Amino acid sequence: MKNLVILGSTGSIGIQALEVARHLKSEIKVTGISSYSNINLLQQQIKEFKPSVVCTGNETDATYLRKKYKKNIEILSGNNGLSVMASYSEADIVLISVVGAVGIYPLISAIKAGKTVALANKEALVISGDIINKLLKEQFRETTCAGCAPKLAVIPAIIPVDSEHSAIFQCLKNEDTKKVKNLIVTGSGGPFYKKNVDFSKITVEEALNHPRWRMGKKITIDSATLMNKGLEIIEAHYMFDIPYNKIKLLIHPQSIVHSLVEFVDASVIGLFSMPDMRLSIQYAITYPERYPTNIHPLKLEDIQKLEFSKPDLKKFPCLKLALDCAKTGKTLNAVLNASNEVAVGAFLHKEIKFSDIHKVIEKVLNRHKVISKPVLEDILEADAWARTEAKKEVNKC
Ligand code: NDP
Ligand code: MG
Repeated sequence: MKNLVILGSTGSIGIQALEVARHLKSEIKVTGISSYSNINLLQQQIKEFKPSVVCTGNETDATYLRKKYKKNIEILSGNNGLSVMASYSEADIVLISVVGAVGIYPLISAIKAGKTVALANKEALVISGDIINKLLKEQFRETTCAGCAPKLAVIPAIIPVDSEHSAIFQCLKNEDTKKVKNLIVTGSGGPFYKKNVDFSKITVEEALNHPRWRMGKKITIDSATLMNKGLEIIEAHYMFDIPYNKIKLLIHPQSIVHSLVEFVDASVIGLFSMPDMRLSIQYAITYPERYPTNIHPLKLEDIQKLEFSKPDLKKFPCLKLALDCAKTGKTLNAVLNASNEVAVGAFLHKEIKFSDIHKVIEKVLNRHKVISKPVLEDILEADAWARTEAKKEVNKC
């Protein structure tokens, strides 16, 4: 029985993780859950899963829950609460599925406490990959990276949940990363890849209508701009310690091949399945075990065709911005991520056009003075600075 803490249990990944826990009742005990503002769903989840610890977005909600549940449940709040939950003594595995840069606090806390992390949140690794990998090196006293198992450990510190990274993780199992020629990250291309649309006229509803995946709003917009693929390339670089010139991106509209690894001997190993996040969520939680799922089985004979093409960087400037930032890294990744979070939020609130998203990000990136060898405080400062600057740009649109 594994004790599971889910940070972000009221979100798309969190809800699917609870489905996995329901499905594997005799293997998984839900020990902790958290929401930010959705206190109603959180209470339903408390009733069903009876966790020992819960975290809310603010102290007002936490006080209300403390009165309601008396001393039966430990109730925490805010970023500090997330960090406490991530290092909770009873937790065997911590699923970090909060959205945005805020994931950095529980990620660092879990690593310091020696917990195994199932990582869905991509923003934390994007903004602080060097810091996280340095922390892991100190912890294990050997060269390692987020998704690599240190020699003496059976389970790595971080097991990816993002479907592409889960695929790569599974393709790399028992392989020497020095024998990797290329990681091939795939992406569906989102709702607008093949369409001839005027980007300035795209509505929020159209952008939220992803052809393959049902996800939270922020990642769905990132998937429509292809910023998500840019973030995933950066995530893969830090997760597997592979240089950027060995990470390729292919557009694959069917979302059946979730990513591939090409080895030096010209073999290519890929992971194929129907698109369903419960698969990589379950694998990350139960790793190294595999259990049956209720996921629709893949029948390749029904799939007709699998297409692959190179990405169009001209049509999707957010992807280009992310790939350019990746080359510099350091505090620039934090600025890219924070300005994107602000721009996407503004688009969702109908304050800017879809075609303004990349303009806001680019203007902020151009003003940033990169700090070499940043420590965590520099990353957090760059993040805060970029949010302020991006809000100014939003107001100018
Ligand atoms: P959602 O928006 O659906 O859910 C986000 C969760 O985080 C909710 O529980 C939300 O609480 C909570 N939350 C939001 N803001 C904060 C905050 N400031 N502090 C603490 N908790 C917060 O997102 P997704 O589930 O879609 O995505 C979660 C992460 O996983 C993202 O980083 C995304 O990129 C990544 N991911 C998601 C995939 C997917 O299929 N959805 C696929 C691959 C990666 P509340 O509900 O109360 O607001
Ligand atoms: Mg993904």
